[in-house]
Amino acid sequence: MSKEENLQCSFCGRKKPETDLLIAGLDAHICDRCIEQAHGIVEEEISDASKSTISKDLTLKKPLQIKEFLDQYIIGQDQTKKSMSVAVYNHYKRLLQTKNDEDEVEIEKSNIILVGETGTGKTLVARTIAKMLNVPFSIVDATVLTQAGYVGEDVESILSRLLQAADYDVEKAERGIVFIDEIDKIARKGDNPSITRDVSGEGVQQALLKLLEGTVVNVAPKGGRKHPEQKFVEVNTQEILFIAGGAFSGIDRLISKRLNMQAVGYSASIDDDKIDEDNLLQYIIPSDLKSFGLIPEIIGRLPVLSYMNPLDAKTLRAILTEPKNSIIKQYTKLFAMDDVAFSMTEGALEYIVDKAVEYKLGARGLRSLCEAILTDAMFDLPSSDEKEFIVDKEYAASKITKSALKKLKAAS
Ligand code: ADP
Repeated sequence: MSKEENLQCSFCGRKKPETDLLIAGLDAHICDRCIEQAHGIVEEEISDASKSTISKDLTLKKPLQIKEFLDQYIIGQDQTKKSMSVAVYNHYKRLLQTKNDEDEVEIEKSNIILVGETGTGKTLVARTIAKMLNVPFSIVDATVLTQAGYVGEDVESILSRLLQAADYDVEKAERGIVFIDEIDKIARKGDNPSITRDVSGEGVQQALLKLLEGTVVNVAPKGGRKHPEQKFVEVNTQEILFIAGGAFSGIDRLISKRLNMQAVGYSASIDDDKIDEDNLLQYIIPSDLKSFGLIPEIIGRLPVLSYMNPLDAKTLRAILTEPKNSIIKQYTKLFAMDDVAFSMTEGALEYIVDKAVEYKLGARGLRSLCEAILTDAMFDLPSSDEKEFIVDKEYAASKITKSALKKLKAAS
């Protein structure tokens, strides 16, 4: 056999006479069949990659990983973190399926509604999800929205903000997350039919419907009427995830009423468990939102309903130091930039928590309290030679006077 005939394909092993063509590389050969096969693989990979670009640039994570990410920033609220992780995962799976739609099963949007007192972390959860997914995120306050044509902001302004957050990249904005705060404030004002012009209540809910469900909206990128000359941009809301939040103050009474009625009826409620009267929100169901004044269509378009637990002293204590960017970690970093080693004793931390609980300042109050305690030091230390700063309970208490607390209470 000649030397030439001895050559073989380095991939499939075929000898040269068995091939139509054998191409030589540096120290390997490849036959025509292997080239064709490799070409097929390349084609397939490229088309798969274009189908799943969403997962690629959204770094799609599994629910467990999403929850683990949330755990780094949010203390407690396990129930909500779990429902959010599943909802977000399903939402982005839904985006993948629309790209290679073969069967008839259509996964619907999993917009979310979070119910919980102010300061329990609703915005934080939404913001953290957006951070994880690396998508544009914007917050709108439902109280400023009015029905088109009335004084206030049109519902479309929600999208102007998102567009801004996406640096005017429409495609990016169309995969963003919008947090609608204070959704409870656009509840129908009572069942009084004499209120015919409920411009900031039911009217806004109606206007929101289409947006939540998915529609193409003409958006004024710079936020509307002040720039009449600007061009409109078309934004499709089909793939935007909406997270609504609200305190729904008083809804606990509606829940309690419903639970009591169920208990009277013979289909007794909540499987023999005792009702936890201190945290009735955990029993919330969509019909409670309806009783509160949200229209059924809106409730239907926010299919994932979850609640936030009130923050007790233990949770507040953990919030001070445990999250990845906890308040205390932030101050430590600030002081470290001036070469000052900062720390707080357990006594001081507990003192802060006690005051936050006593004056009902919630998690937001923790920062204000720290600010009140540390302002003097942050003023003095950068120009001093001190290299260590330890805050104990006495120091903390000396900076928090009654009048300061009253001010904090008034501001919260
Ligand atoms: P809400 O939107 O429910 O009114 P926020 O998300 O704005 O509340 O929370 C206010 C602040 O309180 C946040 O910036 C965060 O620092 C802190 N906070 C509230 N709840 C938590 C929590 N569960 N874990 C960590 N921080 C929290």
